Amino acid sequence: MAHLIEHAKSGRASCRKCREKIAKDELRFGHETVFQDAVTYQWFHLKCAAQKVANDLNEALRDFAEDIPDRAELEETIAANRKKQKPTTFPYAEFAPSGRSSCQVCGETISKGEIRIAVEREIDTGSFARSGAGYLHPQCVAEYEEAPDDLADELAKNSVSLEPDELKSVLDQLG
Ligand SMILES: [Zn+2]
Ligand SMILES: [Zn+2]
Repeated sequence: MAHLIEHAKSGRASCRKCREKIAKDELRFGHETVFQDAVTYQWFHLKCAAQKVANDLNEALRDFAEDIPDRAELEETIAANRKKQKPTTFPYAEFAPSGRSSCQVCGETISKGEIRIAVEREIDTGSFARSGAGYLHPQCVAEYEEAPDDLADELAKNSVSLEPDELKSVLDQLG
C-alpha cells in the first residue's frame, strides 16, 4: 500500500486542507495513514495536496499513468512547496539557509545558498553530550571518517527540499 491518486468514489469525503467536499469522480489524493493498526486515507484535492504534502503527492504522481488536468500547474505548486520543506532525518543535503555553518572537514565557512551535507554528530558541551547537526561540503565527505557506508542512499531518501537534478549533482560530487 502507498499513497494514491484516484477518482473519488463518492462525494462524501472532505479535503483535509480546505475542508470542502471532494466531488464524486474528481481526482483526489489519498494520504496513507495508519490509525489504530488499520490503514486509512486522508483525502485531499490534488491542488491542496500540492501545498500541504508536496513530496507525497509527487511520489504518487510518478505512479499515476492517467492524464491529469492542469498537471503542469500542479507540478509547479509541488516544486514551490518542496523547497520549503525542512528535512527531518540525518543525513541530508540542502541549500545552506545562512552562512553561519562551517565544514567539519576543511573548517571553511559554508556560504548561504551553497549545498551542504548535514550529518548527525555528538556535541560535547563539557558536562553532557547531546547530538546535533554537523555540516560538510559535498566534496569533503570522502574525508569524513564517520560518514555511513550507504550515505548516497540515505541522502537520496532524506533530502526532501532538493529537486532530482539537484540531488544528482550532489551525489556526483561525493566522489
Ligand atoms: Zn481542498
Ligand atoms: Zn569542506
